[in-house]
Amino acid sequence: MVPLRQDHHIAVMTMSTTTQSKTYPVTRTDAEWRRLLNPEQYAVMRGHHTEPPGSCALNYEKRAGTFECAGCDQPLFESKLKFESGTGWPSFNDPLPGAVEEDEDFSHGMQRVEVHCSRCGSHLGHVFPDGPPPTGLRYCVNGVAMNFKPA
Ligand SMILES: [Zn+2]
Repeated sequence: MVPLRQDHHIAVMTMSTTTQSKTYPVTRTDAEWRRLLNPEQYAVMRGHHTEPPGSCALNYEKRAGTFECAGCDQPLFESKLKFESGTGWPSFNDPLPGAVEEDEDFSHGMQRVEVHCSRCGSHLGHVFPDGPPPTGLRYCVNGVAMNFKPA
């Protein structure tokens, strides 16, 4: 397995061809995405960049509620499945059913599983098989890709 530490830098990732060719229920033009998202969100969600660890306030969000996609408002994760991973990124055990789709990502010489919104196709982060029970999964998500809605 690839050491996880390699993921902990500000990555300038290449566009994924697999997620760009698919049609999603919410489809926007590039100009629309640029209007809707701030530059940091655009770089992460449409360009597959990774935000600097610890940069997003959502990492420290401890209230009960739902994390929604910043691109289309679809609920993605619930706070009860959020855990402190120590990585500097919001981390979850499991997404809401059907909320995200996954793709193989071979960028940066690593084999990882990319996670994106099932409704608008925006890049969210990656999932790793080293999370705590019950799922054993760690969904490592860019905070800027989500909005938090308190319960
Ligand atoms: Zn979305």
